[in-house]
Order: sequence, then structure tokens, then C-alpha cells
Amino acid sequence: MLKGFQENSVIIECNKCTKETIHPIANIVSSKNELGEYENIGFECPCGNNEIFNMNLPTLDRDVPLARQDKKEQQQRMKVNQFIMMVREDYIRQEVTPQ
Ligand SMILES: [Zn+2]
Repeated sequence: MLKGFQENSVIIECNKCTKETIHPIANIVSSKNELGEYENIGFECPCGNNEIFNMNLPTLDRDVPLARQDKKEQQQRMKVNQFIMMVREDYIRQEVTPQ
């Protein structure tokens, strides 16, 4: 799961062995593939487990309220949302100044 953020990196906690690892994301961009879906982003733990995040979730500025989820799910969802807005092409593009 996505544990948090730190200077252009994400902190991932492995669902399998619970080890925390830090992964730089400065060069990661999730672009649309030929099916029109954003590519999911995965981070590999030294144990071999791959934590994969779905970049096609509706982001919270477009999503329904989180009231139905429990607190832990809500927190995780907020972090994934933040992550999406940091790496997904459509959000990154918004920051690019037109030339
Ligand atoms: Zn692991």
C-alpha cells in the first residue's frame, strides 16, 4: 500500500512482507495506452511482490464522497488520489505553461 510521500518519492509498504521501500517518482508519467486507459504504476519490493496502483480511478475532484468507506480505506484512497495527481499525464500537463 501507499504509505506516504517524501521529496519526489513514494513510500510503499509491501502487502506481502510489510517492508517499507522508497521509490523516486520524478520521472514517472502515466500515459494513456492504446485502449485509452492510463497505465497502472507498479513498485517492486525486494521480496518480489509488486504493488500496483490503478491510475484510472476517478480522482477526488470528480468522485463521489468517501462516506461509505472505512477510515483506513479513505486514507489510502486519499493518498492514491494524491499520487495520481502527481504522475498522471492529464494532471501533469495542467502545470505546463503554454509556449
Ligand atoms: Zn515485500
